[in-house]
Amino acid sequence: MVPSRIYLTWSSVAMLIATAACGQATDTGIDEPKDSTVSSALMLEQLTYAQIDQLDRDHSIFILTFGILEEHGPHLPIGSDTYQAEGVRDGLVQKLQKSHPEYDVVLVPVIPLGEGGANNLAHEYTHIGTYSIRYSTLRDVAIDMGAAIAANGFKHIFLIHSHGSPLHNIAFSEAAEFVSDRFDANMVNITSLVFGAGFYNDDIVTEHLGPGWQEEIGITGHSGVAETSTNLYLHDFVDPIYKELEPFVVPDFPSLSQIHERDGWQGYWSDPSQATAALGKDLIDDFVERSHRIASMALAGEDLSMLPVHPSEHPEVPERYMARQAEIDAWLSSRRSE
Ligand SMILES: [Zn+2]
Repeated sequence: MVPSRIYLTWSSVAMLIATAACGQATDTGIDEPKDSTVSSALMLEQLTYAQIDQLDRDHSIFILTFGILEEHGPHLPIGSDTYQAEGVRDGLVQKLQKSHPEYDVVLVPVIPLGEGGANNLAHEYTHIGTYSIRYSTLRDVAIDMGAAIAANGFKHIFLIHSHGSPLHNIAFSEAAEFVSDRFDANMVNITSLVFGAGFYNDDIVTEHLGPGWQEEIGITGHSGVAETSTNLYLHDFVDPIYKELEPFVVPDFPSLSQIHERDGWQGYWSDPSQATAALGKDLIDDFVERSHRIASMALAGEDLSMLPVHPSEHPEVPERYMARQAEIDAWLSSRRSE
């Protein structure tokens, strides 16, 4: 038998607190997820070990959700990617409970950590509001969490996140492969497979902004029209100054590497001022749909290794990560020899 059910997710609790503090929710005129719940998902931290032990090893899905604390322009909270990951996770859980009712879904508490802020593209490695961790640290946290779950015999572990940095994605792909390889488990980095087929869906942006937006405002992405929209949809923490921000046009992905040569970068690109909650809803729904497709393939035991994954190649690990590790090691050994 399965233990008692829990009906509030972390995000809905946060929203209740935020709504109480603000006195009111925003009036976006669309069906918002702010009071939504993940019905009958189990929250790992609320269970006793005896209750966890009662779960069916083959018919439980553990969901590991990661975020990142990262500057998101002057208008979005630094937890933006965490909120998006939670929004996608909650939608995915609802779909899985309909399509795969024979499984219990267990939500591991959100780990709000990630690698590589977008500020690195501007060569601003210590940007205020970005608290990123090294790629190897992130990978090892995911490995240790996944291994602890798999060591108890649980077969299905899904990783959800919402951050595009290549090494951030590699960390989770390697963690998933390691745990799957070393244990008789199926740990899947769902989000990097979703990203392998594309990030924010340009066709949906076109439906909302009309054709030709790429020429006008460039690629969307970090804190721009798409991400400001998803934030407007998911919570109440968007600063209204987004409506006054000037566009910062990056014409294509290769041009991201030249952001550091330009003046006036404020931590976003494309045009936040055109954001709407309605666009955000459609973009989150699209991520949910694509995540559910991959999750269903994983549960069916399909081979996912032929699917495109982000990134397609292992990027170089920055020198500063190795330097930090060497600094820690040297400090520890000098301290011990004192
Ligand atoms: Zn983001």
